[in-house]
Amino acid sequence: MGFCLSACKILWRTKYCVLPVLSLLVLAWIATFPGETVRSVLVSSATTQTLVKGDGLGDKLHSTTGARDDLNNPPQKVDCPKVSPLLQGAKNLSFDSSLTLNDVVTENEKVREGEYEPPDCAARQSVAILIPFRKRERHLVYFLHHLHPFLQRQQLHYAIYVINQAGNVTFNRAKLLNVGYLEALKDYSWDCFILHDVDLIPENDHNLYVCEDQPKHLMLARNSSRYKLMSPGNFGGVTALTREQFFQVNGFSNSYWGWGCEDDELYVRVKLQKMTIVRPPEDVARYTMLFHTRDKGNEINEDRGKLLRQTPQIWRKDGLNSCSYKTLSIDRLPLYVNVTVDIGKP
Ligand code: UDP
Ligand code: MN
Repeated sequence: MGFCLSACKILWRTKYCVLPVLSLLVLAWIATFPGETVRSVLVSSATTQTLVKGDGLGDKLHSTTGARDDLNNPPQKVDCPKVSPLLQGAKNLSFDSSLTLNDVVTENEKVREGEYEPPDCAARQSVAILIPFRKRERHLVYFLHHLHPFLQRQQLHYAIYVINQAGNVTFNRAKLLNVGYLEALKDYSWDCFILHDVDLIPENDHNLYVCEDQPKHLMLARNSSRYKLMSPGNFGGVTALTREQFFQVNGFSNSYWGWGCEDDELYVRVKLQKMTIVRPPEDVARYTMLFHTRDKGNEINEDRGKLLRQTPQIWRKDGLNSCSYKTLSIDRLPLYVNVTVDIGKP
């Protein structure tokens, strides 16, 4: 009884502390609940709905990604061999005047929109072939007829881009090739670019259309000059530069309107970067040149010598970084991508 009395007295004296202490005890008890439970008690029903929706989307995304993974990563192909077993060496080329573009399409069923990949192995390089072009339709038929099988025998992943200058103002081969580089990179991150005249047909498939650690000149001799070797300073006709090499030299100058010296200018750009030029063996780097006279609208550029002397001063500001043009159409035809472009005028 005495104990009860003193306990009551103590409680009466500490009555103002009891309530806060009790509340603290209750809060501590709630805090020991698992976090998820507390949160589920606190979130509103709206938020809960959103969370559920989100989860569903997440599931869908997950399953789509899964499916896409399967598509993007079909069973891993092994690398193609260093030397393709399909190469045939030197060939006698023929040019049948009755051959049509449709015939060439039929011959090349495995090419899709100008692009091809070897079916059984992973190509060692992805290569964009860029062709400056205007009104050379017959040459293009022969080019496609020979080049598609040639590139396939080399087991490359490649695509052919024809950069077609719209209108009749003076032709500008160099600027068209700059456009080709910029446009092709919108499709795929090509490793290597082959800058290729439409009228040059390689005669030997050991002339590999791949890039090296230095820019490469592929056309060393042609039938029209009785296979006399080009001078070491020549860098025209067919050249191969990696994506990085072409970028490093700022591409071609855009200022060479008409015939001449734009290829020599690229050579100077390469040299200014302290790059060297590599070449295939002489007996391999041979071409047949399809006959033509000088095209209307591609007359000799009288300023070419003067322009060439200015290269060290202008290469940084005249090139890929200043190439302005208007793409009029991009037609993904069976055997090539046809980019028709307005490149302005001199
Ligand atoms: N070209 C073209 N249409 C023209 C002029 C030139 O398609 O009206 C292209 C074509 O690819 C050609 C290249 O530019 O092979 C180089 O021009 P050309 O053949 O006249 O130069 P050359 O034979 O003197 O090297
Ligand atoms: Mn030519």
